[in-house]
Amino acid sequence: MSERIGEVLKVKVLGGGREVGRAAVALRYGEGRFLLLDYGVNFNENDEPQFPEHLKPSEVAGLAISHAHLDHVGSAPMLYSSVKLPAVMTPMTKALSEVMLKDFIKISGYYLPFEELDMLSMLDNSIEASYNVECCVGEFTVKLLNAGHIPGSAMIHVEVNGRKILYTGDVNTIDTRLVSKANYEGVEAEVLVIEGTYGNVKHPPREVVEKEFIDSVKEVTDSGGNVLIPAFSLGRSQEILGLLYERFGGDVFYDGMIRQIYDVLVSYPEFINKYDVLVKSMKEFKAVTKPSQRRRIVQSEGSVVVASAGMLKGGPAQYYLKRLSDNPKNAVFLVSYQAPKTPGRALLEEGTPLEDVGRVRARVQWFDFSSHAGVDGLLEIAKNVKGLGHVIIVHTNEDVGLEFKRRIEEIIGLDSVSLPSNGEEVLIP
Ligand SMILES: [Zn+2]
Ligand SMILES: [Zn+2]
Repeated sequence: MSERIGEVLKVKVLGGGREVGRAAVALRYGEGRFLLLDYGVNFNENDEPQFPEHLKPSEVAGLAISHAHLDHVGSAPMLYSSVKLPAVMTPMTKALSEVMLKDFIKISGYYLPFEELDMLSMLDNSIEASYNVECCVGEFTVKLLNAGHIPGSAMIHVEVNGRKILYTGDVNTIDTRLVSKANYEGVEAEVLVIEGTYGNVKHPPREVVEKEFIDSVKEVTDSGGNVLIPAFSLGRSQEILGLLYERFGGDVFYDGMIRQIYDVLVSYPEFINKYDVLVKSMKEFKAVTKPSQRRRIVQSEGSVVVASAGMLKGGPAQYYLKRLSDNPKNAVFLVSYQAPKTPGRALLEEGTPLEDVGRVRARVQWFDFSSHAGVDGLLEIAKNVKGLGHVIIVHTNEDVGLEFKRRIEEIIGLDSVSLPSNGEEVLIP
């Protein structure tokens, strides 16, 4: 066996193994150095950061970052306290990562194993790559392909010694206002490392969700109620504002980091699908910058406010929730994934999101505006990859992942499908 060791491709899952988030996958060819695909962070129910498994920076040739969500980039600065590693990412991901990581460092109540200097070192050592352009990191050739998930998001195609791997990161296979769908046509790879967040879910058609959402917003505002839409500052907020701009005429406000993120998005038009809708919606609607504006909104009739955080974990959304929740004329429309043990999930399941809010009497509804592909989209990617021999599922809960694994085995007809846990290494002979 030892004489073949140099030919074995190794895919080690450091984070995101049988869990959603904390994405971190390390690739190596034989005994060579690692290429890290993402190095993200998760948060437990006390909001304490959870990091991926450690890798000695001296054993790493470099990184490729799929996108700027903290569950993909949030731990990467950790590697920069002693070394300078090249990190491939799109220019949009670089600019958004700076905003997200600064905010993470600023608001984290817990000790972090890195500081702003390490983050700046990472950004200084980044290699900005547009989509479909090859660049080299040590012995690896890396190419980023549009992932359709958020602006700047990329799937990462890697070639090492003639072996080809595709890592999807977070991926979406439908067009939205903000980003066009993932580009997976004609991709060649023997190994596909695929996210499985919604590996057992069929999302309803987006047009249906949009119509139901706009109709619901109109019902509430027409009868004098206010609508709170808690949404992530990065991506979902701008998507919802664009939809409201196109299909709803009334008073809309936005509050939180949404404006700051928009200032980055607007600087990279090549990564935005409907650029004019993004710009017009942000100009048409009003940013909330003062407490007096917040008070006026909650006292108004028929206003809509899009505010972070998406799962009601902190942010201005909590302010509005506390003041709007007691009136059945008002509504809270959730448009993001609600993780277990978050106030958003508690609101949906028990109607009691926070200790100091009590039972919510406002109308509560959840809409499926997912920026992750459902099972059909994910299978479509696998079907399109040329020369595919092995699938490795990451970024999914165990039960969903097992179901997704069975679907790939049945529908794609592959028998090498794995769902590794953190720390597990998959060997591809
Ligand atoms: Zn993710
Ligand atoms: Zn993401």
